[in-house]
Amino acid sequence: MKNDDYEQMRFSGVTFMVKAIVGANWGDEGKGKITDMLAEDSDIIVRFQGGANAGHTIINQYGRFALHSLPSGIFYPHTTNIIGNGVALNIRTFTDELRALRERGVPEPKIIVSERVQVVMPYHILFDAYEEERLAGRAFGSTKSGIAPFYSDKFAKIGFQVNELFDDALLKSRLDNICVLKNTLLEHLYRKPLLEPDALYAEMTGQRERIAPYVGDAAAFIREALGAGKNILLEGQLGTLKDTDFGIYPFVTSSNTLAGYGAVGAGIPPSEIRSVVAVTKAYSSAVGGGAFVSEIFGEEAEALRRLGGDQGEFGATTGRPRRVGWFDAVASAYGCLMQGATEAVLTAVDVLGYLDEIKICVGYEIDGGITDVFPVGAGLVRAKPVYKLFPGWKCDIRGERDYNALPRALKAYVDFIEERLGVPITMVSTGPKREDAAFRT
Ligand code: GDP
Repeated sequence: MKNDDYEQMRFSGVTFMVKAIVGANWGDEGKGKITDMLAEDSDIIVRFQGGANAGHTIINQYGRFALHSLPSGIFYPHTTNIIGNGVALNIRTFTDELRALRERGVPEPKIIVSERVQVVMPYHILFDAYEEERLAGRAFGSTKSGIAPFYSDKFAKIGFQVNELFDDALLKSRLDNICVLKNTLLEHLYRKPLLEPDALYAEMTGQRERIAPYVGDAAAFIREALGAGKNILLEGQLGTLKDTDFGIYPFVTSSNTLAGYGAVGAGIPPSEIRSVVAVTKAYSSAVGGGAFVSEIFGEEAEALRRLGGDQGEFGATTGRPRRVGWFDAVASAYGCLMQGATEAVLTAVDVLGYLDEIKICVGYEIDGGITDVFPVGAGLVRAKPVYKLFPGWKCDIRGERDYNALPRALKAYVDFIEERLGVPITMVSTGPKREDAAFRT
C-alpha cells in the first residue's frame, strides 16, 4: 500500500463520521487506549454492547483507570459519552465509577444513558455465581458480573429497560412475577435464599434515583449528531472470538462483539459505520475457558504474563491471570474479517523486546492437514499450532513514536502480520500511555 493511501486511512483523521473500535481477538487488545486516543478528535463515544464484565485500561494525565462501564471518551470535556441500548447496565458500578473519577479530579463528563438500555438486576449477579458454583469443574470462567443471566432475561422478555424503573406499577408487578420465576430455581435447583419482591423494589427505586440524571433518548441524540456531521466512535468490548455467534461458542460472552452490532446496540443506521478499526495485540491473551491454539505454558508464559500490558497480563475486572500465547494469525485474520475491519492497530509491540525469537501461529494442524481457515467446533478443539519463527529485536522501544526509527526486525514482524490480516496496520502502539503510538506514514 502506498504511503498516501495510509495517510488517507490514518485513523486520527476526520475522514469517517462513524468509526468502530473493536477487538480482533479474545478481548484485552488495548481498545480502551485506542479509544481514548481517538476520542480527542471525536464528538461522541458510544458503548454498544457488554457490561462491566471486562475493563478498559487507560493511562493519561489523570492517572491509570480501569473503566468497566463508562465509555473511554469520558476524559475529554468536549465529548458526549453514551451508554447505548445494547449494553448491560449495572447502575451501581456505573455511578461508583463516575464518583471515583470525580474524586481523582477528572472533570464531570457529559453522559447519556439510553432510555432503552436494560439494567443488570441484583439477582443476575447472584445467578451468575450460583451457576458457576453448580457447574464446578465444568464452569465457563464467568466474571460473575451477571452478564449471561442478564442477556438471557433480556431476550426472554423479562428484563427491565431503564425507563421502566420509573413506572411504579409496572416495576412492582414485574418484580412479583420475576420473584416467582427465580425463586423456583433458587429453591429447587440452587438451594439458595429466596428473593423478596419488597427488598428488590426498594433496591431498584434507589438505583433509579442514581441513574435518573443521565437517562435520555440516546438514539435521537445520535441521529441529530449524524445530521450535524459529528464524529462518532463506537467502542466495542471483548473481541471477535468472544462474539456469541462467531466466537468460540460456548466460551463466549453473551452479547455480539462485532462492529455490525454497533448499529443495533447504539441505534445507528448500519450504512453509517464506514470505518472499523480492529485492535489486535502483538501476542495473544485470553480469559476464561475455550480453545486457545497458540497458548503457551510454564516459564515461557510466566515471562510474557509478567511483562505484558502495562502491569502484567491480569484481568482489569477480576485481577485473575490471563492465559497468554503467541500471535495467532489464523484467529486474528478471522477476527478482522468478521469485524469487517477497514484497518488494524497492532498494540503492545514493546512487550516483545525481551525475546530472542518470536513465534507467529500461521496455520492450524487438524487431523494431519494444515489450514489457515479458522475452524468451527471440534476442529478447533483438535487444532495444533503451526509456527513460523521471527528474530527478536532485543531492545526497548517503549514510547517510540517514529515508525521509521523502529528496529528492522520489528517492522518485518508487523509487515508479516499485516499481510496475513489482509488489512492495513495503520498504527503500532508502543506502550500503554496515550502518546505511545507510531503511525505508519
Ligand atoms: P481493552 O479491554 O481492549 O481496552 O484492553 P485492556 O485495557 O483490558 O488490556 C490491555 C492492556 O494492555 C492494558 O493493561 C493496557 O494498559 C495495556 N496496553 C495497551 N496498549 C499497550 C501497548 O502498546 N503496550 C503495552 N505494554 N501495554 C499496552
